[in-house]
Formats: sequence, structure tokens, C-alpha cells
Amino acid sequence: MEIVRTISHLRHAVGQWRAAGDRVALVPTMGALHAGHIGLVGAALSMADKVVVSIFVNPTQFAPHEDLDRYPRDEAGDVGKLAGAGAHLVWAPAVSEIYPDGFATRIVPEGAALPLEGAFRPHHFGGVATVVCKLILSALPDVALFGEKDFQQLAVIRQMVRDLALPVAIQGVPTVREDDGLALSSRNAYLSENDRYIAPMLYKAISEVARGRDPREAAEALIAAGFARVDYIDVRDAETLAPFVPGSGRPGRVLAAAWLGKTRLIDNVGF
Ligand code: AMP
Repeated sequence: MEIVRTISHLRHAVGQWRAAGDRVALVPTMGALHAGHIGLVGAALSMADKVVVSIFVNPTQFAPHEDLDRYPRDEAGDVGKLAGAGAHLVWAPAVSEIYPDGFATRIVPEGAALPLEGAFRPHHFGGVATVVCKLILSALPDVALFGEKDFQQLAVIRQMVRDLALPVAIQGVPTVREDDGLALSSRNAYLSENDRYIAPMLYKAISEVARGRDPREAAEALIAAGFARVDYIDVRDAETLAPFVPGSGRPGRVLAAAWLGKTRLIDNVGF
């Protein structure tokens, strides 16, 4: 498995594969890889001949008060996991490769980016869209894969690819969970033993809302269970993320973000 740092090395490798007729998949990650990321690699291998995994902790999607500095990093461990999973190339660029001096262009997504996370983290999806656009244009894959764990992010990326006619297919991959229902996340490493015990309540709460429970009641149950705060727990149209219209016959999604101590967990479930 090759490891490259620069866009030109990446383009050279991908260009050779595509010239040989291979289909190429890109799996963007921020590293600290777990079985959810490895599931994306497995899905990518089932859809493409060659799989590129990017590892880049994107500073522009973190607000100044967020956890950029303490975000977990383990490139050596990640590389071992990716080699074991069968990935073909790891692209781990420096911040200066993605944001060179003088970088001054930013994608500002609206629509699906505005509610929910957009209300609580106003600059987050701008950073995500900008970096994902650059990752896609740097790698020029046939397909890029994203987890449903970050369901709104997936919707924002689909919207950007459609709006800007980026020449790539976007594939969503179902959320990988622990046995007790907690969605795998790099941020779970921050949880204390007690918080880790309470954390699966979030999935339980959104599953109950998907079955018809009032979201306000579910939020109260989370607070009663020991969550510090619930940013939102909301029922949305699964495609537009507009408020869900009961009886519309459209697919729905329950999305939530809640704090356990200083750790913010997000999760979602379809119905
Ligand atoms: P991250 O490293 O957190 O930016 O995640 C990289 C990719 O992995 C994103 O597309 C995430 O949605 C996806 N991902 C993270 N956790 C999971 C999970 N538990 N199940 C499936 N995909 C996941």
C-alpha cells in the first residue's frame, strides 16, 4: 500500500490506474480509524478496483472553541488498519498542501446545510464542503464514499456534487454500531466510563422517535439519563432535511446531537 502526501503524487497514481481501465474509489477520513471507517473501505472495495483513503484533519471545519487540537491522531495505526483492510493508497496531505499560502476560496453550502448542525455549528459545513470538493478534485475518483453516521454531511455533499456538477458518484454507507447500539465515532474515545455506559441511550431515543415518540419527550429522557444537553432531536425529510411532513409518504430521518460531559455525540436513524 502506497502512502503519498502531495496532490501531484496522488494524481499520478490515480491517473495510471484510470489509464489502465481501473475504477477508483475515494474514502475521505480524518484518521483515528475504527470499524466504521473500515466498513467504508470494504464497501469501496466492492465497488471499485482501487481504493484511495485520505487522512486529513480539516482545520476549517472546526470552530476556534472546538476540539481540533485534541482530535485523536494515529497515522501509523491508521496505515496498519488500512493495509489490513486492503486499501491501495493512503493520501495524508499536510495542511499546507490543502490550504497553501494565499488560499482564499470557500464553498458556502445552503439548503441541506442550514438546519440542525448548521444552526449549532454555522461554519462547519462550509469547511466540510470546501475540503471535500478539493479532495474530490485532487483525487478525481469515480466514486466517493461517506458514512450515514454523518447523515447531514452526506446530504450536503450530495447537494454540492449535484449543484457544481462534480464528476463523481456519491455512495452512502450504513452506520456501524457497537453491540449496545452506540454509533462508532473517533470522539467516543473521549467518553468517561460512566458516559460510555449512558451513551447508547442516544440511539435508543432516536429509534423511539422513529417509532412515533414525541422528540421533546425523548430529549427529556436523555437529560434524565445523564446527558448534559440536547442540541436537537428532530424529524426530517431524509432527502431535503426539511421538516418531515407526516403522511407525505416520503422517507424520514430522525437526527440528534447531544452532549455527554464535554463530548458532543451525533446520531440518526431512518424510518
Ligand atoms: P471522520 O473520520 O469522522 O470524518 O469520518 C470519515 C467517514 O467515515 C465519514 O464519511 C463518516 O461518516 C464515516 N463514518 C464515521 N463513523 C462511522 C460509522 N460508525 N459508521 C459508518 N461510517 C462512519
